[in-house]
Amino acid sequence: MRSIINFMGLLEWLFGKKNQTEKQPLQTQNNDPALSSFHRPDPPASKEFTAIGNIDPICPYCNHIFEKKPGRKKECPQCKNAIFVRTRPLDNKSVLLTNDQIIEVERQKKIRSGEFDSRKQSAYSAIRRDARVKLGREPTNYEVMSAFLTEDCRYFASRNDWGFYTNTLGEQEILTENFGNKDEALFYCLMICYLDLNGQNNLGGLGGRPSPGIKRFDPKLAFLAPYFTKRIRELIEELNLSQKDVKTRFIEGAKKMKETIHTPVSVNTAWEKISSEVYKDDNLDGEDDQSGEYWQQ
Ligand SMILES: [Zn+2]
Repeated sequence: MRSIINFMGLLEWLFGKKNQTEKQPLQTQNNDPALSSFHRPDPPASKEFTAIGNIDPICPYCNHIFEKKPGRKKECPQCKNAIFVRTRPLDNKSVLLTNDQIIEVERQKKIRSGEFDSRKQSAYSAIRRDARVKLGREPTNYEVMSAFLTEDCRYFASRNDWGFYTNTLGEQEILTENFGNKDEALFYCLMICYLDLNGQNNLGGLGGRPSPGIKRFDPKLAFLAPYFTKRIRELIEELNLSQKDVKTRFIEGAKKMKETIHTPVSVNTAWEKISSEVYKDDNLDGEDDQSGEYWQQ
């Protein structure tokens, strides 16, 4: 089973051209014990917390000194990079972070909450180790986390957990957006909307098989999350894209998704629903909202 992530340029670069049946050097193999028990909960490991970021009012990119320490996301006046502010789990101190450091802080926060269990941690470490060998340098947190989330998507796809799969695409979206990769973030938002319109279900708890009354996808459960349609609108504006540009991106991605994971809703029908929501303020006769039924995992 292939995931839509495989079509993203960054990941093609990281993993090489996709052919799921071939052995890929960066992919952790399915028989790896770290992966086979990928998502079983385990107590958090506090030794993972590190003294990451700057406690002092110093830009984490260029060492510019601020008169007053920023309290939230801010552009550095000297190097123009986006500085993030978070409380790090090690000592609960507020720190200034680069867009790559924030990935690690968010991961450590998930370790603390138990969401990123020890098996996820060993899978993550294995990906970092392999990436180091493949790239011949220390990989960035972004590179490792992108690869890890791709692995996560593949895991959920193999279990027919399409709701969790969609959530992982949402994590990819946040990751790419923090990195200012708006084009890629838009693509994730569009694909999330397509999956939402197919009414995805999680079947992993049922042995990954459809049961009477529960299908992999059930368009009766379709909905569009206002968060993503709003984000699509904002990204289109920031990227200055025409409706035709957006449609091309959507159709291309959704067609590949339909071919690979056999989603029931036609690509054109989905585009009509998404575009009428995204461009609803442009419609002079004001079409009704396509709110659909709310779907809960
Ligand atoms: Zn700076």
